[in-house]
Amino acid sequence: MTPSTPVIAIRDLHKSYGSLEVLKGVDIEARRGDVVSLIGSSGSGKSTLLRCANLLEDSQQGEVLFKGEAVTWKGTGHSRRPSDAKQVLRIRTNLSMVFQQFNLWSHLTILQNVMEAPVTVMRRAPSEVEPRARDYLAKVGIGDKCDVYPAQLSGGQQQRAAIARALCMEPEAILFDEPTSALDPELEQEVVRVIKALAEEGRTMIIVTHDMKMAREVSNHVVFLHQGLIEEEGPPETLFGNPQSERLRGFLTSTQ
Ligand code: ADP
Ligand code: MG
Repeated sequence: MTPSTPVIAIRDLHKSYGSLEVLKGVDIEARRGDVVSLIGSSGSGKSTLLRCANLLEDSQQGEVLFKGEAVTWKGTGHSRRPSDAKQVLRIRTNLSMVFQQFNLWSHLTILQNVMEAPVTVMRRAPSEVEPRARDYLAKVGIGDKCDVYPAQLSGGQQQRAAIARALCMEPEAILFDEPTSALDPELEQEVVRVIKALAEEGRTMIIVTHDMKMAREVSNHVVFLHQGLIEEEGPPETLFGNPQSERLRGFLTSTQ
C-alpha cells in the first residue's frame, strides 16, 4: 500500500433492497488521516453505504477496496456475496462501526464491552487487551466507569464507551453512523469533543451526521448524498460556504 492508497474505497456501488434501488453508483474513499463526513436527508442511503463498506450488507455491483485489496465476490446481482470469509473478517475488524444507538451489551460491564470483540472475535489474550481497554476508556473520559453496566451510564457516556470499544479493535478506520443523534444537546457535545480529538490525532474516519457544525469543524471532505447518488462533494469550506446545487442549498437551509 502506497501512502496514496485509500484505506477504504468504494467504486460505483449499487445496492437494492428487492426492487428498491438505494445506492445507484456511489464512489467514496478515505485515505489515511481523512475525515469524511457524509450528509443528506433521511433515506438518502447514508447508513446503507456505511454498512456496505464494512460488508454488513451485500451489494449488487461495484467494488469495495480495503487498502487497495478488492473484496472478492461470488455470484452476481442479488445473489452476489463476498467469497472469502477471512477477508470479510479482516475488513470488518479494521473498519469499526459506532452506531446511533450505541449497541452495548447490557449484561456486560463497560470494560467487558470494550474487551469483547478483541478477545472473542480477534482471539487476543484478555491479559493483553485489558490494559489497552482501560486506556481507551480513560482517553474518552470514563476511565472510572470500567465496572458498571451500560444502564448506569448517561447516553453520552454510553456512546463514549462505544467509541472506546471501536478504538480497542485498533482499526484502520472508524465508521460513525449518526453518533450524536440519540443524545440530548448537552450530552452531544461530550461526544463531539471526543470525535474532534480523534480527528486531531489523525484517525481515518467516515462520519454520517446531521450535525453540520461538527462536519464543518472535523472533516477535510464532505459528501452530500441525495437519493442514492452523490449530488455534491468537496472540502467543508466550499460545500457549506459556497454550495453549488439547488438541492444542497435546500438541504442546508432545512438543517439550520
Ligand atoms: P439514511 O441512513 O440516509 O437515512 P438508509 O441507508 O437507512 O438511509 O436507507 C435508505 C433507503 O433504504 C430507505 O428508503 C430505507 O427505507 C431503505 N432501507 C434501508 N434498510 C432497508 C432494509 N433492511 N430493507 C429494506 N429497505 C431498507
Ligand atoms: Mg441512517
